[in-house]
Amino acid sequence: MVLENKKAIFVMGNLVGLRPDPAYKLTPNADGNFVYADRSDKNFDGANAFGAVAQTVNKYNQVLGDLTGNKIEWSFGDKQIKVSPESGDWPNAFYARQFKGLHFFDYKTTSTAASGEVSSHEAGHAILDAQRPGFMEGSGAETGAYHEAFGDCLSMLMTLGNEKAVEALVAQTDGDLSTRRNMLSDMGEAFGNALGREGGIRTSKNEFVYADPATLPEHGDENNLGREVHDFSRLWSGAFYDVIDNISDANRAAGMAPKEALMAAGEECWKLLVGQVELSPKASETTFHEMAANLTAADAQFNGGARGELIKNVMVKRGLMDADAAPPSRPQGARLFNAEPVRQEFILGNDAGQLAGVKMTSIVDSPAFGLVGLTNSTIAEAEKGARLMAADGDVLFTDKTNPGLEDIFRSDGTAYTAYVAPNAQGQREFHRTKIVF
Ligand SMILES: [Zn+2]
Repeated sequence: MVLENKKAIFVMGNLVGLRPDPAYKLTPNADGNFVYADRSDKNFDGANAFGAVAQTVNKYNQVLGDLTGNKIEWSFGDKQIKVSPESGDWPNAFYARQFKGLHFFDYKTTSTAASGEVSSHEAGHAILDAQRPGFMEGSGAETGAYHEAFGDCLSMLMTLGNEKAVEALVAQTDGDLSTRRNMLSDMGEAFGNALGREGGIRTSKNEFVYADPATLPEHGDENNLGREVHDFSRLWSGAFYDVIDNISDANRAAGMAPKEALMAAGEECWKLLVGQVELSPKASETTFHEMAANLTAADAQFNGGARGELIKNVMVKRGLMDADAAPPSRPQGARLFNAEPVRQEFILGNDAGQLAGVKMTSIVDSPAFGLVGLTNSTIAEAEKGARLMAADGDVLFTDKTNPGLEDIFRSDGTAYTAYVAPNAQGQREFHRTKIVF
């Protein structure tokens, strides 16, 4: 990790570039360390974001090393990820593969860098992009939503590793996460409040059940799912929250005190989360059903099968697994791939509206036993997602071969999820932007 601040350059509200800010550095306090009490110290946000990202990455590496002997290798090829905590004034934080790092911004009375949860969430995008770069090439709604949920799950597990935070959580919930919304379930409370959303930007304490994103409106509300990736992600983070809750309940039933029960549940869920990613496809698409199967497979492979029934009960309730599904003897969701994934091109049909005739490329697993139908499911998921993106106005249609940041970022602070641009052969081609919030 390297602390490397950059300042965003805005023209008419659009982010058009990032310039180096070499003067930025943290100054140690009187004790010679980099621990600051609160945001009244100008170093606080930078130290907080950098520290939270470092702790998240280190913990992930530790668990990954224990399970597999491997370490994270960043998708952008550098040895270190860059953290820019003071990138300007904007209601945002983002990971961008082309900038090789994470960017945080001040907004009103707060900063996204001041939130450990937001920092861990953004680190999660970079970690998942390292482990499964295909997922950021994918266009499927569930793949994008899994990227968002992954960061929220990581953030919850980081909280459960912090003794003081868990003590506060026990006081808030009487030690049972199912009682009420709380500091673990709610993401980015200060940032949410600055945006006018009480109780954080979203919560994992919810009762959502699976519905095909294509059948949902773009945006839901507290009690209804939408298909936009952050919105739909609440289904997966909600299911994961239930797994944490049920493991913690089981720990208490076995005689542990509430604090120890929660912290032990957190440690166990680290293995499940990291293991789940290890067993996931290397394709450009995944689905929540696959991830549910991969979570039980991770339990079987990395956790002695201790929570197979518990996970299954949660996933059945969430509509992510069949009640009569057999316990997995292998990673069912991993699609039995036996080789490195391959790229497959296809052209969208005349019924695809603005996307008619557009060329797309999906990364598909090479099926082990001639199971070509599985390849088709990846492409179907990608095509469905691209159509939804276009319907929601998240695809930039441009004549430029290489659209710049000023084209990709919109003045409301969001960015297009994909663009369609002419390629060297004059074909219109679909590209995913590798920027996530
Ligand atoms: Zn995100």
